[in-house]
This record gives sequence, C-alpha cells and structure tokens, in this order.
Amino acid sequence: MYANIIIDISHEMVDRPFQYRIPAHLEPEILVGTQVRIPFGAGNHLRKGYVVDLTKQAEFDIQKIKDIAGVVVEGVTAQTRLIQLAWWLKERYGSTMNQALKTVLPVKQKVKQKQARFIRRLLTREDIRAAADEAARKHYGARERLLRALEDADEIPYEVAADQMNLTMASIKPLVEKGMIALEAETVFRNPLIRQDLKSAAVELNREQEAAVKDFADRYDRGIRETALLYGVTGSGKTEVYMEMIAHVLKAGRQVIVLIPEIALTYQTVMRFYKRFGSLVSIINSRMSQGERYDQFERAKNGQVRIMIGPRSALFTPFCDPGLIIMDEEHETAYKSETSPRYHAREVAVRLGATCNASVVLGSATPSLEAYTKAVEGTWHLYQLTQRAKKDSRMAQVHVVDLRTELKEGNRSMFSRKLLEAMTQRLKAGQQTMLFMNRRGYASFVSCRSCGEAVKCPHCDVTLTLHFGQKLVCHYCGHETKAPNHCPQCGSPYIAGFGTGTQKVEEMTKKMFPQARVLRMDMDTTSKKEGHQEILSAFAQGKADILIGTQMIVKGHDFPKVTLVGVLAADLSLYTSDFRCGERTFQLLCQAAGRAGRGELFGEVVIQTYNPEHYSITCAAAQDYRSFYRQEMVYRDMLGYPPRIQLLAVMASCKSEETLNEAMEHLSRWAGEEGGLLEAEAEGGRVEMIGPAQATVYKVNDIYRKILYLKQENCDILIKLKSCLEQRRRNAWWQQQVMIQYDFA
Ligand code: ADP
Ligand code: ZN
Ligand code: ZN
Repeated sequence: MYANIIIDISHEMVDRPFQYRIPAHLEPEILVGTQVRIPFGAGNHLRKGYVVDLTKQAEFDIQKIKDIAGVVVEGVTAQTRLIQLAWWLKERYGSTMNQALKTVLPVKQKVKQKQARFIRRLLTREDIRAAADEAARKHYGARERLLRALEDADEIPYEVAADQMNLTMASIKPLVEKGMIALEAETVFRNPLIRQDLKSAAVELNREQEAAVKDFADRYDRGIRETALLYGVTGSGKTEVYMEMIAHVLKAGRQVIVLIPEIALTYQTVMRFYKRFGSLVSIINSRMSQGERYDQFERAKNGQVRIMIGPRSALFTPFCDPGLIIMDEEHETAYKSETSPRYHAREVAVRLGATCNASVVLGSATPSLEAYTKAVEGTWHLYQLTQRAKKDSRMAQVHVVDLRTELKEGNRSMFSRKLLEAMTQRLKAGQQTMLFMNRRGYASFVSCRSCGEAVKCPHCDVTLTLHFGQKLVCHYCGHETKAPNHCPQCGSPYIAGFGTGTQKVEEMTKKMFPQARVLRMDMDTTSKKEGHQEILSAFAQGKADILIGTQMIVKGHDFPKVTLVGVLAADLSLYTSDFRCGERTFQLLCQAAGRAGRGELFGEVVIQTYNPEHYSITCAAAQDYRSFYRQEMVYRDMLGYPPRIQLLAVMASCKSEETLNEAMEHLSRWAGEEGGLLEAEAEGGRVEMIGPAQATVYKVNDIYRKILYLKQENCDILIKLKSCLEQRRRNAWWQQQVMIQYDFA
C-alpha cells in the first residue's frame, strides 16, 4: 500500500502530494487524515505530513519510493478532521482530492500572522451618541456608522469596521486624534476562560423562544447530538434563540460555527453577535484575502476565537472541538457551491456534526422542502416560532393585484392603481417604500428593431448585457465590446437597448413622483466595493423615500420606517428552467412581505402578478408555509424531483462537439449498465435517465456543454453510480478532452 502525503498545509504542497510506502506494521494505523513522519528531500530530514489518499498503485519508480517513518500520536487534530472531511467531499460529490483539499484547507501565507486589532471606545456612551449625532449633521456617513456601533459595544474588531461597515483608516484616524476612540492591537493573549462572564440576553425571551432554548439545552445536556430545524416566521426572533444556544454550548467549553449567507452578513447582523459575545466572535467573508482568512482560522485554532460567523466556507474553521453548527436561512441558494466539489453546506454541516459529536441547528422562515420534510418525518428535530417577537409588530397586510385586470381596465403602466395609491400615501406620511423586482440579472440587452436579433456574445450562446448604456458585456465569459450603432446582423441603424429591469422602474418612479427621493440597488449600482452598504445605510438613515432593487434589498435588513413593499412582477421568477422556481418565488415573496412593518408602524405589501392563482403567490400572500409545502410536494412527487427523488446532473463540456457527443453516448450507456447492476443489488426502484441534452446555455467561451440527468429515490445508489462513472471514464479515450462535473440537485 502507498500513501499520498502533503507536507505541511500550504498551497504549493496541497497541489502536490508526495507518495510514500506504508510499511506493513503501520498499515492498521494509517488512514486518510493521519499525521505521519516522513523522510523528506535529499537529506531525508524527518518532517510531518498528512495522509490524503491511500492507493495500491505506485505513481513512479517503486525503487525510489521511501517508507513512512512513523505515526504522530497527538489525538485527532482539527487538521486530521478537515482532511477526512475533504475525502468525504470528494467521494460524496465527485471531485479530485486536490479540489476537495483546496475547498477545506485555508491557504497558508508566507506573511507573518497579523495581530488582531480592536477599536475601543474611550468616551461614555452618552458622549459617543452625541458625537454620532454631530457626525450625522455633518454628513460624515462612515464616521457616524462607527460611532453608532460603539454606542452599545465597548470595542469592535478592526475587521468588522473595515469590512462590514466599509470604514477606512482615513475615517478612523480623526476620531483617534480627537481621543474618542483608540485603535489597539491584541497584545494580551485573550484567555477564553477569563471571558466566560457572558452577558445575558439583550431581550427577555418570549414563551416560544424560551421553550426552544430550554428544549435544546435539555437535549444537549443529556448528550443528544442531532440535527434540528428551527422553523420561525420572519421576525420571530430566531437570532436571539441562536445566541442562547451558542451561550449554552460555549459554557460546555466547546466552539460554534454560525453560517449566514453572505448577502445577509450585514453589519447589523454581525453587531448583534458581537454585542453579546465580544471578542470571542470572529467573521470571515469572501471578500477577505486568503491571508486574512488564514489569520482568522489560526485564531480559531489556538482558541482566541470561539464563534466563527461566515458564509459556507466557515464550515471549514479548524476548531478543535466544535459543539454546535448553526445555519441561518438554510434555504438560501448561496449555500450550494457552484464549483467542484459542488457541495451543499447543509449536507456538509450535518456530516460535520456527526463526525465531531456536534449538534446542528438549521433556521428559516421558509424552510427548504428537504429540511421541512426531514423535520416533519421525524428524522430531524423541530423547534417552532409561530409569532413575531416584538409585541406590537404584526404581519403585514398583503394585497395581490392581477395585472391582466389592470391592463383590461386601461392601465398600461408598470404600477397598478393599488400600488400607486399606497405609494402616494407613504410619501405624504413621510414613510418609506421598497420596490422589488424578483429576478436576478434581469438585465438589459440590445436588439435590432428591423430584424429582431439581439446582440449575442461571439463565444457563448447568450445575449450581451448592456452596462451603463455604452458597453456590452458577456456575463458568462467576460467578453466586452462597445455598444454598436448598427445591427451586426442586418446593418440597420434602428438598434436600441431594452432597459427593462430596475433601471426602468427607477425612471418610471421618478416620472410619477418627481418630489420623491429615490435610490436604486442592483448589479450596476453596487459594483463598487462599498456600493451595497452605502446604499442600504443611506436608506436606513431615511435619506430616501423609495428604494428600488433586486433580491439584494429584501434580505437581512431591518428598516423600521418601511411600511410598504411593492413587488412589481411576482411571476418573473416562476418561469425559469429550475424545478425549484416555485419554491424560490414563494421564499422571495415571503421575505419581501417580511420587510414591511418591522417597526411599530403597520405594514402593507402589494404583489403585482399575471398569475394571481398560482399557489406560490397565494400562499406567500397568506404567509402560509404549510399550505405551500403541501402543494409543492405534490408537484415534486408527481414529476419525480427532490426531496423524494434524488437528482444527479452529469455535466460534460468540450471544445469539440463531436467528441462531446461521443462522450455523452458512452456516459449514458455506462449509466444504463451500472445503474442496472446497482438497482438489482439494492432492490430499489429504477435509475431513470433523462437526456443527454444541451445545457441551457449550450456554448460558453467556445466550449460546448451537455447534461445527462440521473434520477433515483436512494441517494446512496446515485453516489455509487457516480463513482462507477468516474472509474470507467478513466479509461476512455476522450478523458483528457472532456471535462466532467457532477452536481447533486
Ligand atoms: P428573525 O431572525 O426570526 O427574523 P430576529 O431575531 O431578527 O428575527 O428578531 C426580530 C426583531 O425582534 C429584532 O429586532 C429582535 O431584536 C426583536 N426580538 C427578538 N426577540 C425578542 C423578544 N423576546 N422580545 C422583544 N423583541 C425581540
Ligand atoms: Zn438587424
Ligand atoms: Zn461570452
């Protein structure tokens, strides 16, 4: 037997494992993830390394392969566990071990670890508030944000300020010079044990919250480790519940991972955790450099940090003893990786929980069908919050407007009469409105009025997107060109951009309400790094009456003055090729509705649609998850989609159409043969095959793409089938030319 070993955990080495022979007496001890000692280099100095793969096949001259010297006995380290997790990712989702290791292990940087820095408040709370008011008067937005944050917290990590609040040194320095704040390095090693005087809850929990927390604590103390769904309507106070659960697990001396989708990882959210747990909390996000992330992970490893908050990659925090994994908004699409290994964070969280003896809590107001099914069937535990937490906050009143009727009655504008009336009222009352287009990348394109052709990317099968009215960009390959004056097909000069989407909504809004202050948030306005936060804080501070945007605006923000939410064309997201489009539509509409009336003021929602009878829309309007769940499950069961039937997409891509076709033929034949064998073995239902078919976008960057779908009730059979296909592909003549990726829906 041979073992592939990575020396040290660093980027270069992960790329290149070294092969060693396993001496017979060590064989029983050596597994994937085991730390070993090996002779390395010309001098054969002993170095430590981790086993990442076991094989019977020598990769080079067996004469030259050295023996493993011994096993390092240190118990299970975080590193070992992560390497084992990488192995599982590779087997479960189908990727190379390198891809899996790169997903799981942070890239080591040569630079010395930077010390964490903190911004500390030097004035009293009242004086800080006065200073914040002063900054607001002078329109120092950044400075005000920082001071407001410091009203409640004594100190804030510099990263939070820089990242979540978009502060730069230039806005921090003047405050330091005035003696209001201090910027301090973390010089003393913060012993986590000293800081066990955790603050108690900021609010008094209501009965339902209390029950969920108590139930969790009881089960945890009895040694029950399980996955649970926390199903709580929007505003029911799930975050408070998470924080109590976290406090309980910290008291047991263990660590906690909190997953929050990046889009909801705003400074409001982060500060809530920070106010409660202080410097035990750390945050990672995708905008951080590799080095910054590495630093955060080091601090987690050595115990300085005990709660890691972040998007899906926070799962790979090298805690030595994680006892709880929380996943907020578990239904979010961002939890699925779109590169190999195409893992779903929910499944990885459950796996991690099982291997670390940790509990997993998934939270949502609109649970995924997968999670809710497991919870009602009893596979997972269920906690429920049915009421909004704030006493005076009620669910918003929802109106569904049929746009066909509007048209019949002569209203051709994009605003229904109901919505116009409600917006007018809000402007009069000095309250805020959010207008929402529920489709991502609902972008403008350029087309010819003579021949009807839209301008397409020369390398891909998609239309180019118009940016700032002058540049055409391909969102798939990045191809850029100047917007043409004449049609590239027929030469006609009658060529124009269709500025549908949010831009057009903005134009119309300004026309109808010239006196209103309007902000727009979409890909165009947020391409600058600060864009996103700047626009949201301006709106939160009441600097505009109307905020227009895509789904970015409906997630994770509390705007107490928003009393009206208008959804302009609710059905836009119903017509995509994704079998989950009904679920997505329902979730988006519920979230949008949840935005209205969060404060003391009564909220209203106007949903405009051409499809007022569709259950995704009627159930969202009624905020009735269970009814939606029942109807959607009927549809999924009827057409054979998850959660009951598992779906695996085998995606192949190749420069040559001919080669691709041949590869697809082979793959479907193999899938038929191997699938048949597996079925017989498992006595399960059939493996159903659909396709091969062209991908939605057939050509990207001059590469052709086809997909084969495999369906089966039992996910384990699909995983085995995937492994068989991987195996057989290794001997195919096209294996170098055709790239294959596996994707479990
Ligand atoms: P969710 O995550 O379920 O949408 P949050 O945790 O964000 O809900 O809570 C919504 C609002 O209600 C927050 O402003 C929070 O501070 C407040 N809140 C939560 N629990 C309570 C409570 N028990 N009493 C009063 N206010 C609460
Ligand atoms: Zn033309
Ligand atoms: Zn392109």
